[in-house]
This record gives sequence, structure tokens and C-alpha cells, in this order.
Amino acid sequence: MKVDFLDIKRINNEQRAAFTEAYNRVMDSGWFILGNEVKQFEAAYAAFNGVSHAIGVANGLDALILSLRALGIGAGDEVIVPSNTYIASWLAVSYTGARPVPVEPDPFTYNIDPSRIEEKISPATRAIMPVHLYGQSAAMDRIQAVAQRHGLAILEDNAQAQGARCNNRLTATWGIINATSFYPGKNLGALGDAGAVTTDDAALAEKVTALRNYGSHQKYYNEILGVNSRLDEMQAAFLSVKLPLLNAQNQRRQQVADRYNAVLAGVGDLILPVIAEGCTSVYHLYVVRTAQRDALQEHLRQKGIGTMIHYPVPPHLQQAYAALGYQKGDFPIAEQIADTAISLPMAHYLEEAQIAAVAEAIQSFF
Ligand SMILES: *Cc1c(COP(=O)(O)O)cnc(C)c1O
Repeated sequence: MKVDFLDIKRINNEQRAAFTEAYNRVMDSGWFILGNEVKQFEAAYAAFNGVSHAIGVANGLDALILSLRALGIGAGDEVIVPSNTYIASWLAVSYTGARPVPVEPDPFTYNIDPSRIEEKISPATRAIMPVHLYGQSAAMDRIQAVAQRHGLAILEDNAQAQGARCNNRLTATWGIINATSFYPGKNLGALGDAGAVTTDDAALAEKVTALRNYGSHQKYYNEILGVNSRLDEMQAAFLSVKLPLLNAQNQRRQQVADRYNAVLAGVGDLILPVIAEGCTSVYHLYVVRTAQRDALQEHLRQKGIGTMIHYPVPPHLQQAYAALGYQKGDFPIAEQIADTAISLPMAHYLEEAQIAAVAEAIQSFF
């Protein structure tokens, strides 16, 4: 049986009628930028997270950049980031002129190791950016304790974990300001690029609202040097269709993960996902590790099972970051994850037969 890594067409076809209605509504309104659709989605997304403000922006990277800028972070500052994240987390810091300072993850949860943060804090450190990688909440209670001890801001990169929790509290509610992405493949995905900033801080919300729209609250009066990073009406309308489905789809993903855990336990040298005490995962990705990763991926490809590698090269070894002067061996846990991780098909629509086909193909490899 062929199992795609992710069938975005199928996911969106489930909502085709509602999307068409949303499209028609925006078309008929004749209003495409910063209108009622954006306002409504922002209110709904703030309510989903239980925060006072959500500000729609053009994508997840911009959500991170504008959050950092709203905090006043820039040249000369340092921001603690995971060594094993998607490069966007680092790029956002670099774009402001600040320096990303990597901290290694826990080798089993893949999230930033709170016990390794303190040794990387310097007089220039301004903020900690936890990334809830693969959908599992980072250890926010412990990260918050470190941040409070040192007077640092927390900015969560919640691109992969909409709806996840730590100690029963949602991700995107721990930091003073938090960023997310609605890239089509994310748990809450648009039909194009989109992102959002969430915060309970009215002043920061106002700053981001101005920054995303040319630094202006009133048309043609520009108070600060902003950018054009607006969430557009069409994407907001599509996201409003999908947001009410998110919790149920996340639950389905957790059930799929439970099935994978059951059928893959003890197979070969596979290391299955480890969810920390008190944390939940919304399984943006279901990532396993094996010393024979590349051969397993090729075997699965031949059997029609789609997989991906998240991520093959950690940011410190990317050519784009050559100027920071890092070398192979500097962040061995991140490097080991990059060398051994493989993401299996994961989506709310996966059925028992598809999960069984993936498991069977993996078993036949080992
Ligand atoms: C997807 C993602 C981003 C960036 O989102 P875009 O919308 O693609 O800009 C940032 N951080 C993480 C961890 C992501 O997975």
C-alpha cells in the first residue's frame, strides 16, 4: 500500500465546500487586506489560545522577527535558541541584528534542555526562544524559572505545536510574546503563507500591529520603521474554516502516534518519540531515530511509504551560518539527531490499514 508522507490535497479537499464559501465571501466583499476576515480570525485564534491579542502576519518567520523587534531586540543582543531547530528560529534572531546562541536539546524529547541554558547566558542575553519541536511542548515551567531568575523575556516559536500543553497550560501562553506559522503543512495550515503573533501584553500587541503594516496605525502616518507583513483576507477566511477543527485533528494525530508507538515498539534499533512528564505533543511530526536512517528511508521509498528528514543539517552547520564559525562536533546532540531522525507519515486522516502498512514496511527492513 502506498502511503504519502503528507497528502495536503486530501486535507484541503475535506473542506472544499467551506473554502469555496469563504472565497466567495471575500470576493463579494471586494476587501482583501486587513478587513473583517482578518479581524475575525485574530479574535478566534486569540480565544483558542486564551490570550488577549492575536495579530495576523504574512508568515511564521515574520511573526518571529516582528515579535523580537517589538521586544526591542537588535544589534549587540543575544537570544538563546535550540541547536536543533528549523533554521527560521535562528534566522529571525539574525535578521534583527542580534546573535542566536544555541543550546543543546534533551536527546529524547528533542526540546531545548533547560539545565543547559544558564551556562549560555551572558550580559548581552535578552531572551530565550524555546521551539516546541515536532509538536511537543518544551519544558516551559523549567524554562520560565531560568528566564525569571535572569530577567529574560521568553518568546515561544509555536509553529509546530498549536494546541500543545505543558502542565495543562497551552504553548503560546508562556512567553511575553509568541509566534506561530500557518504554512500549509502545519497542524493549522492556510492555503498559502500565513502566521500570527500572540500576546497578553497590549503594548507589544500594538507595536506588532504597527510593525506589520508599515509602522503605521493611521494610513499615511508612520511612527516607526515597519514592514509589509499583513495576513491577507483570503488566508484569514480559510483559516477560520480550519481553526474549529484543530483540536479534534490534534487528538486524531495523538491516536495515530499511539498506534505507531504500539506497532513499532522494539523494532530494530528504533528510538520512538518520548513525551516528557507533564507535556503533551500535537504530533506535527512523528519522528523516530535509527543508525540506519538513510537505508531505511530508501527501503520505505521503494515500498511506496513517504518519509522526510527534519532536519538533515542543523543550523550551525549550514553554509548561511559559516560566519558564526561553528564546526562539526560543536553541538553533538543536534548533529546526532540530524544524522538519525526520520519522519514517518503523520496526519489526522491516517487509517489503521495505512499505519499497519508503514509498520510492516519498517519491520521488513529490520
Ligand atoms: C514552519 C516554521 C517556521 C517558519 O514558518 P514560515 O511560515 O514558513 O515562515 C518557524 N519555526 C519553525 C519551528 C517552523 O517549523
